Amino acid sequence: MPNIQRKGKIMTQIRTPMVAGNWKMHKTVAEAQALAREIRRGLPASLDVDVVLAPPYTALSAVAREIHGSPLALAGQDVFWETQGAYTGAISPLMLADAGCRLVIIGHSERRQYFGETDATVNKKIKAALPVGLTPIVCIGETLAQREAQETLAVIASQLSNGLLGLGPSEVGRLVIAYEPVWAIGTGRTATPAQAQEVHHFIRRWLQDQVGAPVAEGLRILYGGSVTPENIRELSAAPDIDGALVGGASLKAESFLKIVALGR
Ligand code: PEP
Repeated sequence: MPNIQRKGKIMTQIRTPMVAGNWKMHKTVAEAQALAREIRRGLPASLDVDVVLAPPYTALSAVAREIHGSPLALAGQDVFWETQGAYTGAISPLMLADAGCRLVIIGHSERRQYFGETDATVNKKIKAALPVGLTPIVCIGETLAQREAQETLAVIASQLSNGLLGLGPSEVGRLVIAYEPVWAIGTGRTATPAQAQEVHHFIRRWLQDQVGAPVAEGLRILYGGSVTPENIRELSAAPDIDGALVGGASLKAESFLKIVALGR
């Protein structure tokens, strides 16, 4: 495949960038509808980035209606691995798809920190999401203590090998990976482009070793952690950064749309 020049990057294969907004536990149904509508109206006429909105469960259907017929895609913020049954409070992959989701965030560090998510549960959730056609956005990342102990790459390798355990190349090829250093999430402290690129490159090399270069080269690796309109351009210029998972700055249409415009 010929080399393709895009935004200063020499790429051997096109990866459409992705910008995903994780609204976390924010927005009532009416607020979510208003935000989705504003984002839809503000999208550029020609879009060369995949844009994803992840509202809370309660607003999924309403946001699905707001974005119907637009290039925006809907994601769940989490999912359970069973299809149905006595699992109070849980939402199945089928239910997410039924509500209009095309993607689902799995293994976000807040799920790991507050809800006991582990690499083993991440693995089960990925394996449950794929058969119903959901694209998992699999979150990995080290804590500050792990980074300071020079354990970052070992932690990433362990999260990948346990989280993706048993997945074949065709399944891995359907994932999006989000590298989100825990110390950068919601802290205003962003990884430098060099720090992020080092880990993104490591992830791609790790995937290449496990599932081969074609899958690894085609897979999108997003950066997440205090992404703003001010830092997205520099981050997305790094060769292995294929867009962003955005928390705080996705809660306002203006900042999110700026990130969409610059994050490619
Ligand atoms: C996130 O929720 O995945 C995230 C990166 O949050 P923030 O952008 O607020 O750091």
